Amino acid sequence: QGQFSHARRTELSDVFISVKTTGMFHASRLQLVVQTWFQLARDQTYFFTDSEDKEMNELTGGHLVNTNCSSSHNRQSLCCKMSVEYDAYLASKKRWMCHFDDDIYVNIPVLMELLQKYKHTDDWYLGKPSLRHPIEVNDFENPGAKITFWFATGSAFCISRALALKMMPHAGGGRLMTLGEKLRLPDDCVMGYIIDHVLRKQLTVIEGFRSHLEALWLIKPYQLNKQITFSYSEYGDKVNVVNVLGFSVEEDPSRSH
Ligand code: UDP
Ligand code: MN
Repeated sequence: QGQFSHARRTELSDVFISVKTTGMFHASRLQLVVQTWFQLARDQTYFFTDSEDKEMNELTGGHLVNTNCSSSHNRQSLCCKMSVEYDAYLASKKRWMCHFDDDIYVNIPVLMELLQKYKHTDDWYLGKPSLRHPIEVNDFENPGAKITFWFATGSAFCISRALALKMMPHAGGGRLMTLGEKLRLPDDCVMGYIIDHVLRKQLTVIEGFRSHLEALWLIKPYQLNKQITFSYSEYGDKVNVVNVLGFSVEEDPSRSH
């Protein structure tokens, strides 16, 4: 690497933040994002969706990208959006790509502290596995054989520029979608396949990436400001939300989601 390449600290302007969303969540989830953490990262955050929305596009300063991917929660559609996000990141030339789902709250200052600990010129895949073990799938290149690899949950992960560039032959220009079809896996697993299985670069586990796959109410209030992401969800009549003291559901209706 050039002797000056790490001299400058990574700043917010070095990060490309992509949020995956869909038309039916613009008024609910996206509205919340735009009213909260987006305000701290307006210039670097882009929303990848599947429909036109003039009002939302204006609210986000023209950062609503219609991918023209289909608006369903299936493998093809999710891989299609991730593929467009990845290509947009490469074109941005930024040091880091961070991807989040639209039901994720991002603690921007702590995200920056995290990225400043790693060199963007080295290969970094920062995320949190959703499983306690690697995923095992059929190896389409080797019929009858199985392969195992780790992947970061799609709700929150970051990739350094060095790694993203190495992924290009496998992910660029829509190849991520083709790969998703061959593997029959959703976008986050395809990322893990490319990075861990093909490129042999290990996932670095970031505990502070909290999603609704874990018990959010167990995070201690005094530890909240150290976390990088939060989420919320509802299973039947049970809600999984962060325990923030001093706010009622009336004051913060997103708590009852
Ligand atoms: N999503 C999408 N198309 C859909 C449904 C969901 O692009 O038809 C996006 C959604 O906006 C979110 C992500 O996929 O960013 C995950 O969706 P959700 O949180 O509903 O499901 P989860 O996988 O977390 O259970
Ligand atoms: Mn979700």
